Amino acid sequence: MGLKEMIERLKRMGYIKSEEVEKAMLKVDRALFVPPRYESHAYSDTPLEIGHGQTISAPHMVAIMCELLELKQGLKILEVGAGSGYHAAIIGEIIREKGKVYTVERIAPLVESARENLEKAGTKNVNVIMGDGSIGLAGGSPFDRILITCGAPSIPESLKEQLKVGGLMVIPVGTRYYQDLIIVKRTAKDYEMINWGGVVFVPLIGDHGFKRQM
Ligand code: SAM
Repeated sequence: MGLKEMIERLKRMGYIKSEEVEKAMLKVDRALFVPPRYESHAYSDTPLEIGHGQTISAPHMVAIMCELLELKQGLKILEVGAGSGYHAAIIGEIIREKGKVYTVERIAPLVESARENLEKAGTKNVNVIMGDGSIGLAGGSPFDRILITCGAPSIPESLKEQLKVGGLMVIPVGTRYYQDLIIVKRTAKDYEMINWGGVVFVPLIGDHGFKRQM
């Protein structure tokens, strides 16, 4: 399967709904973000290993999260879990030059490879930052949108506080092995939550996440 066929399939299955997400997923070549040994699987709708026990998410999950985030040009975004940099590149493409993605990754070699992948893809509006994203990125806040690409035990208060009023966050919440994808909308007085349904992500490890396993 090639890139175009993958996108057609994601549209047929109803994961890609908008022209913006379709165009971005066609423009950003997933093959640039997977390790060379998996290049022949780059357009399979499945997560792939990127080393250090981590994965690049399946394309349908990237499409679902992008659609739920209602992305628009010019927004300021926080991603927790840069991984390969692929999801951040797609978002960077949708929000265009005036928008900015800050993506935090806790594993140093993945920070390096995400930066290299983004450079190869020609992405200019994504900043990869090394750190514990479970505490957010206070220096860059508030954000229009926040996405967490790893599973959290609960929604960290720090992330809620760093979301703009009217902003949206998508976050998998549950155990280390299985989560519900929660959409959080910050209103003037409160936070509204909608449960999208079951998902499987690697765990969010950090101060406001799961403890690192020995
Ligand atoms: N968005 C990624 C992509 O497009 O390739 C996929 C992310 S992968 C499913 C989840 C990532 O979250 C892993 O790279 C993992 O190291 C990272 N992670 C886990 N806990 C984290 C934390 N506290 N801060 C930052 N990154 C974290």
